[in-house]
Amino acid sequence: RASRSEGEVYCFFSTEMNNEAQVRLGLEADLRRAIEREEFVNYYQPQYDMAGQLVGMEALVRWTHPTQGLVMPGQFISTAEETGLIGALGDIVLRNAAADIMRWRGLGLPVVPVAINISAVQFRDARLVDRILSVLSEHGLAPDALDLELTESILMGEQAGAVGFLNQLAAEGFRIAIDDFGTGYSSLGYLKRFPVHKLKIDQSFVQHLHEDTNDAILVRAIINLGHSLAMTVVAEGVETPEQFAYLRDEGADAVQGYLFSRPVPSEEMERLMRDGVPSLEGKAAPG
Ligand code: C2E
Ligand code: MG
Ligand code: MG
Ligand code: MG
Repeated sequence: RASRSEGEVYCFFSTEMNNEAQVRLGLEADLRRAIEREEFVNYYQPQYDMAGQLVGMEALVRWTHPTQGLVMPGQFISTAEETGLIGALGDIVLRNAAADIMRWRGLGLPVVPVAINISAVQFRDARLVDRILSVLSEHGLAPDALDLELTESILMGEQAGAVGFLNQLAAEGFRIAIDDFGTGYSSLGYLKRFPVHKLKIDQSFVQHLHEDTNDAILVRAIINLGHSLAMTVVAEGVETPEQFAYLRDEGADAVQGYLFSRPVPSEEMERLMRDGVPSLEGKAAPG
């Protein structure tokens, strides 16, 4: 059954093919074919500052599967990583983002940076920086068009070359954001060793702000930590007015989450850019 709704469970095979290895092989082959045919689209989720100004957006890939409908990244990113297909997939995401940015610029829409997720596996590719730069230059874009979202594991030092890559990327003018901040290893030493511009507070902390005092304390601490190091702090997974009010009162710089918008196709992102300022006042709980 093909369905286009977000969050649909991905299920390639019927019961006769329930062997895990077979399923994986099937998914790998299907993914390989999908990459050749470029069956991927970027959805975009807007990021707003606390006054409701659009300040950025995150590109989130979806697979437009011919029979399964819209497939979410949770269903295929790890297989793409394990099979080495993530490099080619990453190029597609980047090219699609570059094309969308150029179209939006052509339409005279406000230009905000687009955040691209880069997985740890992509960081093992010695050509990563050149790959990104060449896609950008094909489209006549400069590195400041992008934020690169990395996870903490990349910075933890086990990967040879990671430091060099990061310094190179920062020197080229890319902004580096740490995604899912707070969920990785607890060593914070890397924050001063690497050129990091932005922390994204993981949604698991944001989600339970109001039931869990510890989460509220951690969110406050992350905001203060980021600001002390001259970084921007963005909260992801903001779903309720109460969460937004807390983040605003604690001084977070920007928010991203279902409260404002789900990830949407590029045409709908275009509409969100045109509409401009959403009414965040109404979204904040009184007090
Ligand atoms: P992420 O980078 O941490 O992205 C945030 C995820 O949280 C997205 O899930 C987004 O749809 C979801 N989200 C946003 N706001 C809310 C909210 O208010 N509540 C809840 N419950 N969820 C919210 P999505 O799109 O399914 O992506 C999942 C993950 O897949 C991403 O997590 C990222 O790690 C990975 N991913 C997505 N696109 C790419 C890509 O192009 N390349 C790579 N390497 N990874 C990607
Ligand atoms: Mg991300
Ligand atoms: Mg995240
Ligand atoms: Mg996440």
